[in-house]
Amino acid sequence: MAEVFYRKWRPKSLSEVVGQEAITKTLKQAVTQGRVAHAYLFCGTRGTGKTSTARIMAKAINCMSPRDGEPDNECHICVGINESRALDLIEIDAASNRGIDDIRDLSDKVRFSPNEARFKIYIIDEVHMLTEPAFNALLKTLEEPPAHAVFILATTEAHKVPLTIISRCQRFDFRRIPIEQMVAKLGDICAQEGIEASHGALQLVSRIANGGLRDAENLLEQVFVSYGSTIDEDDVRQLLKLGGDEMALELVGHIVGKSVSEGIAAINSTSEQGNDLRQLLRGTLEYLRSLLLIKTGAGAQFGYSDEVAERLNTLAADTQMEHLYRVLKVFAGVNMRRDTASTLPLELAMVESAMQPERAVVAAVAAPRREAAPQAAPPPPRYAPPPASPPPNSQPYRQPPRQSQPQPPPRPTRVAAEAPAGAPASMNGELPAQPAARLEHQWRTITWALRHVGTRFMLGALLNSCKEREVADDTIVLKFAHRSNMERIQEELDNPESRRAMDDAVVKAMGGSFRIKVSLVNGGNSAGTQSASQRSHLVLAAQAMGARIVSEKEDEQR
Ligand SMILES: [Zn+2]
Repeated sequence: MAEVFYRKWRPKSLSEVVGQEAITKTLKQAVTQGRVAHAYLFCGTRGTGKTSTARIMAKAINCMSPRDGEPDNECHICVGINESRALDLIEIDAASNRGIDDIRDLSDKVRFSPNEARFKIYIIDEVHMLTEPAFNALLKTLEEPPAHAVFILATTEAHKVPLTIISRCQRFDFRRIPIEQMVAKLGDICAQEGIEASHGALQLVSRIANGGLRDAENLLEQVFVSYGSTIDEDDVRQLLKLGGDEMALELVGHIVGKSVSEGIAAINSTSEQGNDLRQLLRGTLEYLRSLLLIKTGAGAQFGYSDEVAERLNTLAADTQMEHLYRVLKVFAGVNMRRDTASTLPLELAMVESAMQPERAVVAAVAAPRREAAPQAAPPPPRYAPPPASPPPNSQPYRQPPRQSQPQPPPRPTRVAAEAPAGAPASMNGELPAQPAARLEHQWRTITWALRHVGTRFMLGALLNSCKEREVADDTIVLKFAHRSNMERIQEELDNPESRRAMDDAVVKAMGGSFRIKVSLVNGGNSAGTQSASQRSHLVLAAQAMGARIVSEKEDEQR
């Protein structure tokens, strides 16, 4: 690579500076109106555009034909600065020893007139690094600046610059560049370099760079050099070996941002790279806890690097205490002791953490029985279970009867379900005594009751794809034509909340409790009736969320 990205794509005019619109607007006006100050102080974290802006200012101030406060980048002054051979632009890096000598030198030489430009521009980078004698020399110069000199001081640590210096400067605070602006800039670079990078890859690069464009550009270049001109998120992760803690921090970003699909992708990527998911969970919990502590003001020293600490502070500022508290509880409830390779517990937690608060509370509190809600309750919000109002003559929820016990005869007639407004007409009237016939009669009542229930899928909608139903003793078998539908139903029923809503709906419609099984229409019932332990990752995840295993007993008994 002939030229590194951040130099090559450095902004050449004020309007090209990314993310600092307020500052560049003011500077343009100053140039246009001929009101250039003798000393500027540019503060801000690394890579936010301080020195780039300083160089553009050097051009704008001296340009032979500026336009709207911008340099033309064509005259010999501008070209000289762009090619780093301008005599009247003196750049000093205060972080090096030579910088300090330069300052001593400076107070002598600043009196001489510029060589070819109107102004001599001194850019002093990392000015906070100057020694006390050097600061004193600088201060003397700033107190009586020659008319032909402009000083632009840049620092990442403004609090280390003496107030006597600061008070003589016009100060600008450069903000961290917002992610989307950084992504857009990186996108431009990619387009011009012929790089195809996914949006996710650019977002990840930007997030890691934490508001510093130069870091982001360097990182993009590294990925490009290592992986070629097609770049996706995994390339970035692999390059940075984003395992363990970095991955956890990324995941926490998705959790706070409620970005479910990105979160799930991050979990899977961790797993695919062979990283320990328990480590990911530990790291995630630790970061979430730190966020909570920052939020409560108890933020002691966590021993994080400056970069991580800054990132956590930003995340804490972006989130509400209630949300943090909730997601921390969700992730603290993840149990990975038995099946450490399954991504599902973490994925479920990711989904749950992004849910509406009222729903997550319902999920967290495993109430065995619901209180009756007033009949005039407002319609349930989307994704929330409908208000449970058991029919007056219904029984309380019971565990399904055991096989060894005599099966109570199904309650015969007159189990009139209450029809919510807009419910199907078939809900009322006399019910057939035969369970199978009754199930068909009540089927729409059941699907209607479950129309808003579901964690990932709406149970009501899924049940509409049920082709055939069988009732045998105390078991209802739901048969599906497509395996995917069957598996979705099974996944939903593995969720205790959905399972409870399903059981409630069946009790209500059938007048008694039934086991629910799923299977395929054409004999392929093995997948539907396999034991709970065969679905281990689902079951473990469900158990982690408070589920009870019913079907395993049942299989043992048969
Ligand atoms: Zn020019």
